[in-house]
Amino acid sequence: MTTSTAALAAPERLRGAGLRVTVQRVAVLDALSAHPHASAETVHSHLRDDLSGVALPTVHGILNDLTGAGIVRRVSLPDAGSALYEVQHTFDNHHHLQCVDCGRVEDVACAVGEAPCLHPSHDHGMRILEASVTYRAICSDCERKK
Ligand SMILES: [Zn+2]
Ligand SMILES: [Zn+2]
Ligand SMILES: [Zn+2]
Repeated sequence: MTTSTAALAAPERLRGAGLRVTVQRVAVLDALSAHPHASAETVHSHLRDDLSGVALPTVHGILNDLTGAGIVRRVSLPDAGSALYEVQHTFDNHHHLQCVDCGRVEDVACAVGEAPCLHPSHDHGMRILEASVTYRAICSDCERKK
């Protein structure tokens, strides 16, 4: 199921995107691979022990660099307090299901697979770049607690 691109380790992914390989960038990519849809704060709290001295603004900066290079995708969800990030192997325009109670996030495939996958009936003369689709939901765990 994994393609050769998906199997690439962090240093190869950085090189492939034209970014200099640094210990901190590799650590951020590794933390994000282990914790998809994580905020900068979450990534920061999951950095390897020997990198615990890295400041949160540094993590924000690295995430911006990786997002700009296209190997990380920034996901803005209505019920998340801050932007979430995920490693992007290939752009698939996938969407998200989010539990409005506990914030759990799951990927759902885009039927079209490219952006924009939806077009408004009237675009007011604007060129549509993307339809940001989020399914707001209640997960079964939260449903049970009700
Ligand atoms: Zn939930
Ligand atoms: Zn996702
Ligand atoms: Zn779609």
